[in-house]
Amino acid sequence: MPKYAIEHSEIPTVAIAGTDATFPVRRIYCVGRNYAEHAVEMGSDPDRDPPFFFMKPNNTVIPDGANFPYPPKSKNVHFEMELVVAIGKGGADIPQSRANDHIYGYACGLDMTRRDLQLAMREKGRPWEVGKAFDASAPCAEIQPASDIGHPSAGAIWLKVNGETKQSADISDLIWNVPETIEYLSGLFELQPGDLIYTGTPAGVGPIVKGDLMEGHIDGVGHITIKVI
Ligand code: MN
Repeated sequence: MPKYAIEHSEIPTVAIAGTDATFPVRRIYCVGRNYAEHAVEMGSDPDRDPPFFFMKPNNTVIPDGANFPYPPKSKNVHFEMELVVAIGKGGADIPQSRANDHIYGYACGLDMTRRDLQLAMREKGRPWEVGKAFDASAPCAEIQPASDIGHPSAGAIWLKVNGETKQSADISDLIWNVPETIEYLSGLFELQPGDLIYTGTPAGVGPIVKGDLMEGHIDGVGHITIKVI
């Protein structure tokens, strides 16, 4: 056993459908601006620029059914409903033709965002961490293994707040689909088992307040329900 000078944190995990085994989370990569209508609503060009990425710490995951504590230092916290890809086999420079071989499964996730801080940083050309990488900012429901559900490339993705539909799109609308995203990302970083990729959110993002109930869904992948406290 290694000897640590201080108490060490546990490896964050995500539940897996159909098994007691859990998915140990290594890194969380997020794709920015990956649905054209969302790019427009964020004031960006919907052109097919190469994908860009940001990260969240692995210990920002919270499970389906958890409470999301409204984070400090923001008055404009937004939901972003996203398809999450769970990497089961690592690799660098993975061609899109082989990307599916590296995928363990898929999940419904939320890329929670302190929008006011993100935009303030964006305007100044500063990093996005304060807007994106805060505690509990990466809700992730149970992973559906690809061995059970295959590799979904189309299907409804939606998010409701207190029963009212806020986001409604189709994952086939992704500007950079999952294999293309993996090809790009694995050219920048060697992917490893345990990595999660939040693939971007469709249009309709907006604020939540304490007491709100967020319910997200992706056809063939599942649901996520998170309460804001
Ligand atoms: Mn996002």
